[in-house]
Amino acid sequence: MTDLYAVFGNPVAHSKSPLIHSAFAQATAQDLIYEARLAAVDGFKQAISDFQAAGGKGANVTVPFKEEAYRLCTRLSERAARAGAVNTLAFNGAEIFGDNTDGAGLVRDITVNLRRSLAGQRILLLGAGGAARGVIAPLLAAQPASLLIANRSADKAAALAKSFLDIAATTETTVGPRVNAGNFAETAGKSFDIVINATSASLSGESLPLPSGIFAAASLAYDMMYGRGDTPFMVLARQQGAAHCADGLGMLVEQAAEAFFIWRGVRPETTAVLAELRTALSA
Ligand code: NDP
Repeated sequence: MTDLYAVFGNPVAHSKSPLIHSAFAQATAQDLIYEARLAAVDGFKQAISDFQAAGGKGANVTVPFKEEAYRLCTRLSERAARAGAVNTLAFNGAEIFGDNTDGAGLVRDITVNLRRSLAGQRILLLGAGGAARGVIAPLLAAQPASLLIANRSADKAAALAKSFLDIAATTETTVGPRVNAGNFAETAGKSFDIVINATSASLSGESLPLPSGIFAAASLAYDMMYGRGDTPFMVLARQQGAAHCADGLGMLVEQAAEAFFIWRGVRPETTAVLAELRTALSA
């Protein structure tokens, strides 16, 4: 019997997940259907319950439901528990298992697709929202030299850094890579090997107020946002001397591959799907 999966969001019509998962299913000969489902802003729980009742096997969750999905789960992966947000649900009888594959997707895109090691690197993470929270533990697990979390609201960055005290070195602990936090001005006079934009500033076409000199020689500027051509952050990074720039399309495809693996036990090849999406985006 054909298994049913879906992505839930609001809005969701723009989602590329049905295209990605259908391509994965075809390439791995998995018998499944994957749809985009719009849930009312106050109707996520009901939408999931209806989907389970209709035989749905699993789901992806996107804006604005990732935190609500986290609260709905009866069992969580460690990375989802740490992220406080869930983007992948797997249903097994009454159990709702929740995982968060965003961080693994980012790390895989940087280390495998972009062939860039994170070990020993000085990383600057811009933003302190859900996306930033979801990627911190996987970034730290890759053993960078340091991680600075910089956000428009410094207090949010500080609170975020504090919640990773058990796996990070700060003034209070000495376990793991050194983690610091502040506002964008905190980056002045410092330089970084990898700068990751996890703010939503590019969504509204806004540029970030970053001091010049933060991009080290051979640095990588990575924007989690993606679209046709360079994002405003990528434009700024190039102007300020970043040697390499990438958008978040690879992260999107890799987090989907990780979700597919959780559901089907098969890891799909991502290169062809990423190339197909890139071509479609540029058309
Ligand atoms: P949130 O709403 O949770 O957080 C938004 C963050 O952006 C906050 O840190 C906020 O700062 C900051 N911000 C918003 N506007 C501005 C601005 N004009 N200038 C400076 N900072 C700003 O969003 P998410 O964390 O869920 O998503 C962030 C981005 O990551 C989005 O672009 C999203 O599309 C992308 N993303 C990409 C994925 C992929 O697979 N490629 C997966 C997940 C997310 P403050 O705290 O001060 O308000």
